[in-house]
Amino acid sequence: MIRGLKGTRARVGLPAGFSGLDPPDRWPCPRSAPRPERLEAGVETLHGVGPTLARRLARIGVETVGDLLWQRPRRYEEPAPSKRVCDLFGEDDAVIEVVVRSASSRRRGRLRILTAQVADETGEIKATWFNQPWLEGKLAPGTRLRLRGRANRYGFAVSSYDLEGEGVTADFAPVYPASEDLAQKRLRDLHSQAVALVRDAGEPLSATLLAEERLPIRADALAAVHAPRVLAEAEVGRARLAFDELLVLRLALARTAAERERASAVPLGEPGELIARYRASLPFTLTTDQERSITEIDTDLERSTPMQRLLQGDVGSGKTVVALYALLRAVELGRQGALMAPTETLAEQHFLTIDELCAPLGVRVVLLTSSLRAREHSAARQLISSGDAHVVVGTHALIQKEVEFRDLSVAVVDEQHRFGVGQRTALVENRSPHVLHLTATPIPRTLALTVYGDLEVSELSLPPANRKPVVTAWVTEDRSSEAYTRLRRHLDDRRQAYVVCPLIEESETKVARAAEAEAERLRDGELRGYRVACLHGRLPPAERRGVMASFKAGEVDVLVATTVIEVGVDVSNATIMIVQEADRFGLAQLHQLRGRVGRGAEQSYCLLVSRAKEELNEGASDRLEAMVATTDGFELAERDLEIRGEGQLLGARQSGYSDLRFVRLRHDQRLLERARAVARDLDEEGLLGDDVDRLLGEAAHLGDS
Ligand code: ADP
Ligand code: MG
Repeated sequence: MIRGLKGTRARVGLPAGFSGLDPPDRWPCPRSAPRPERLEAGVETLHGVGPTLARRLARIGVETVGDLLWQRPRRYEEPAPSKRVCDLFGEDDAVIEVVVRSASSRRRGRLRILTAQVADETGEIKATWFNQPWLEGKLAPGTRLRLRGRANRYGFAVSSYDLEGEGVTADFAPVYPASEDLAQKRLRDLHSQAVALVRDAGEPLSATLLAEERLPIRADALAAVHAPRVLAEAEVGRARLAFDELLVLRLALARTAAERERASAVPLGEPGELIARYRASLPFTLTTDQERSITEIDTDLERSTPMQRLLQGDVGSGKTVVALYALLRAVELGRQGALMAPTETLAEQHFLTIDELCAPLGVRVVLLTSSLRAREHSAARQLISSGDAHVVVGTHALIQKEVEFRDLSVAVVDEQHRFGVGQRTALVENRSPHVLHLTATPIPRTLALTVYGDLEVSELSLPPANRKPVVTAWVTEDRSSEAYTRLRRHLDDRRQAYVVCPLIEESETKVARAAEAEAERLRDGELRGYRVACLHGRLPPAERRGVMASFKAGEVDVLVATTVIEVGVDVSNATIMIVQEADRFGLAQLHQLRGRVGRGAEQSYCLLVSRAKEELNEGASDRLEAMVATTDGFELAERDLEIRGEGQLLGARQSGYSDLRFVRLRHDQRLLERARAVARDLDEEGLLGDDVDRLLGEAAHLGDS
């Protein structure tokens, strides 16, 4: 047994309430040993979850029971006074206890409105719910309800309700990130089922460590986060879970750093003739930021310690040119460079860009993705192992065992936060090349150091000078034909355009079908007479490459696409983008999408089409307003943080250790210090062995999806 860590399964629960948390009766505290496997079970094992609900949950990243426990509430309900119906007035939240007299429902567009006349002994009022079809059959006359909400001039707008005393209307009930098809009520119900299993979460930290750090046991922390009696309790729980995340992060970083110390790389000396030709071939001069980054990279490459540098720059800031520079530094000495991208589309896109720049230089670029046909795949591998492939572009297919480089000296990892640490280091582990990580997620330098540890950071903070900020407008659906009129004007000026299809994530096949149908509709409608192509994730790779290549070559006027174009697609003649049903997209996603235009000297436009403000939820209209207000990625990231609450600054969908769910980066400085110190102690005691593996393994719960 080591000081800091204990086996997850071995521990039989410490007394509940350890170190300051006094658990209420409704917290379940079975005395049996934890069974972590129960948390690994799929959500379908919970009461009332069928395939449809499971799919909706999967869409917000919840697949297992444990995922629910590790989902962080956005906020908690404020306390609200209980009132009699006759005393209701004004804008504040109140709770009423009533009986249903009658109920009816109707539709308005996509909105389903359910109303019920409800009463207590003092009076009657009309209660209103939106989009809760499953409730319709349940409001028979005589049904008792506890409602939380606000009185307005139409009646009582319900924000939450208890049919059977579930406690949902209670003060400090957690508010989860609900969506249009996933109501708060449902989420709360599922969470309360999951909370019944908190004891199965086990306890990776030793009692001594918990006592020293004054942290509650993990089970209590989870229960406190999901069912606090007062806000302070939720905060204590959150801090414990944040500590775990930070500790795992620091341990992973310590390990990476240790590996790095041992590794050695080939020093690449100074830039030579190929680099000179490359610079001369670029149709623009590099920006000051690009030049500075290049100098920093050159300095790294002279050393025999492998480079570990993060190149950070907003969408369109010109990272690719710098990345290719680093790759060519290897090629110049007869060695190889590799670029790893998180998706096939992005890899293919990089391939097209890089190949175009490299061909005139006599540098051979090879694409390697897992969707290549067997014969192509082995031909590519052959070129890679013989060294005939100078630069290799690919997905994680690059790090599979059967891929052998003759002499890999520089590796570029694009959008690195999308890879788990495991994948991120695998490329490095066997071979010790110099590594340059690229990221477009704008995070402050101090945070980058926190999250990426000892990576050096280069920043491209200013976009190339010839850029004009993209003009962004929010267009309501009833005026979307004007958006298309505008778009056609660009096409008539021989410019190109994107139309981004609504975000429906039922399944990739459905998304693809919807995109194709939309392209078809536009061909016969708003875009009749123009060359329209469709791009989505279900196209066979060769076809997808074909579509991209012809769009790039100007043989296609409009690309109707799903979010596959979100990253990396680079066609500077595309000057206008219409995003349909823009309210469904996240802020980071919209920013990435918008980054596809405004890549040349021409003024570009981004038209966000959505329902009118009154029909959107608060978060959605805040996002659209933020998009209109600024094109600055950093500002948007901050705004995103405010809109979503804390936590997911580093991106919603990204996996890997950078997904710090419970950490409040701006507030948790002290926790971070502690986690760093504890990680260092464990390291010094030589304890980075099996137990740490287990703790790191828990990163699965901490966001490695
Ligand atoms: P990102 O940082 O999003 O990867 P890219 O590297 O794709 O950005 O660059 C965006 C566009 O800007 C590309 O079309 C690229 O050719 C162009 N570009 C890059 N550097 C410069 C520069 N110094 N001056 C003008 N255009 C540039
Ligand atoms: Mg890029």
